[in-house]
Amino acid sequence: MMLLRLAVSPRSRVAAPLSAAARTLSSGSVDISVPLNFWAGQRRTSRDKCNKENVYEPATGRVLCHLGPCGAAEVDQAVKAAKLAFEPWSKLSGMERARVMIEAAHIIESRREEIAETEVVNNGKSITEARLDVDSARLCIEYYAGLASTLAGQHVQLPGGSFAYTRREPLGVCAGIGAWNYPFQIAAWKSAPALACGNSMVFKPSPVTPVTAVLLAEIYMQAGAPEGLFNVVQGGQETGSFLCHHPDVAKVSFTGSIPTGQKIMEMASKGVKPVTLELGGKSPLIIFQDSDLENAVRGALMANFLSQGQVCSNGTRVFVQREILSEFVEEVVRRTQAIAIGDPLLESTRMGALVSRPHLEKVLYFVEKAKEEGATVLCGGERFVPADPTLRGGYYMTPCVLGDCTDEMTCVKEEIFGPVMSVLSFETEEEVLQRANDTTMGLAAGVFTRDVARAHRVVEQLKAGSCFINNYNITPVEVPFGGFKMSGIGRERLDADFYTTANVSRDERENENSSSDHFSIHPPQVHTT
Ligand code: NAD
Repeated sequence: MMLLRLAVSPRSRVAAPLSAAARTLSSGSVDISVPLNFWAGQRRTSRDKCNKENVYEPATGRVLCHLGPCGAAEVDQAVKAAKLAFEPWSKLSGMERARVMIEAAHIIESRREEIAETEVVNNGKSITEARLDVDSARLCIEYYAGLASTLAGQHVQLPGGSFAYTRREPLGVCAGIGAWNYPFQIAAWKSAPALACGNSMVFKPSPVTPVTAVLLAEIYMQAGAPEGLFNVVQGGQETGSFLCHHPDVAKVSFTGSIPTGQKIMEMASKGVKPVTLELGGKSPLIIFQDSDLENAVRGALMANFLSQGQVCSNGTRVFVQREILSEFVEEVVRRTQAIAIGDPLLESTRMGALVSRPHLEKVLYFVEKAKEEGATVLCGGERFVPADPTLRGGYYMTPCVLGDCTDEMTCVKEEIFGPVMSVLSFETEEEVLQRANDTTMGLAAGVFTRDVARAHRVVEQLKAGSCFINNYNITPVEVPFGGFKMSGIGRERLDADFYTTANVSRDERENENSSSDHFSIHPPQVHTT
């Protein structure tokens, strides 16, 4: 299936450009010349030799490997393996399952650098961010390991001294289908709750970023998971639909775009299967004139330019109160222009490459369209060609701030999923709330103000799954994550609810957390609804 041995440079330690031949992993090379499917405890080659697709390294544009999609027979084998593993796994106590998961978390910690570098090579995001993704994956597994032994039913006293009890039952084989922006993290976020609750999983990563999910499969095995507990099938739309339709798949947990989510729901409905849908967003970020401007500017950067802007929860509609508009814009443009773009494996890089050439073209098209519709490009929005000749085939662009935006513009209405911030001005709280909620999506929202009462009043009225106060895009694993309206159904990291048959009420918490260093903001505070 694969052409090359994945080799990346030790550029995380060396700032000087290196030749493509010198791109070798600093922590030992990861072999992708072997198959990337994994079921029943082994890597497997898919039989389809005709429909192979290239997998690219976004930083350079070179072909990393060729991916043959899994067909119906292979998906069936993976599901059968998962079904076999389900029997013994579901009989274990929570503590026994937790032991395997904790061991997996330890292995992830010990291989942090290697996994992060592999993610960078396949995804294009900066190494500093990739490390945080690996940490989030590990923490999620640890968190669910902790929950595994707490899953319990109820004891109900009935008249006459009799009683009833409920049991939390695992569902069986769960399917996970992931997007390309957080490949390793999504695989962990999907598998950790499923496995903790006693289920097994067949996971399909995006065909654009197939590499790191199989590392997770090997890690679970090494940690003591039974063969077939966590399996990986590679492929695109067709492979995904084989999974959704498979009669032995009990639940589908999906992360991706709204149109695909609609199809997943339709397919799952045929088998009356529950779904969790983590879909797209077009989230508002509201900056009131009394906010700490320095913090608000940092927040806007954090809300728009992490992972080259390819973050579902990004606050891309930045509403700024009229009184501070020019001051805010001046500062946000100055900081945006200072973002170091380039080789994502370098420690100094703050913005790497977009995930693919077609995606880069799509994002640049949105900028052109914004200009046609009357927006002003205040900075960026152009292809970027790094000085290093080995990176010239990469998919880079300069982060973009759009001014003079209005609510009707395409850049304000549609998810761009790239480094493009649209700035809008507003006069009153009432007006901005109405405009912020005027969207079919509702994944996240943010508010910057020094007025605590206003912050909570606004958050209460924002129709969004996660609302951030004076920070943005902080997603601690203990806090639920998911959308309102067309941004999705269900919550990741809520608790065991979505992988067992019992029911619980929605969670609501505040939390403190540190943010990623390069777009960091303060004071951190998260309010999730
Ligand atoms: P996508 O919808 O194109 O693909 C997502 C996954 O679905 C891929 O693995 C793809 O192969 C698979 N797929 C596509 N068609 C399918 C079908 N008919 N049946 C089964 N599987 C199918 O999304 P993408 O381009 O990979 O990711 C970007 C999108 O994901 C953005 O909209 C972003 O907002 C969203 N996203 C949401 C979250 C969240 O938590 N809400 C997180 C990350 C990304």
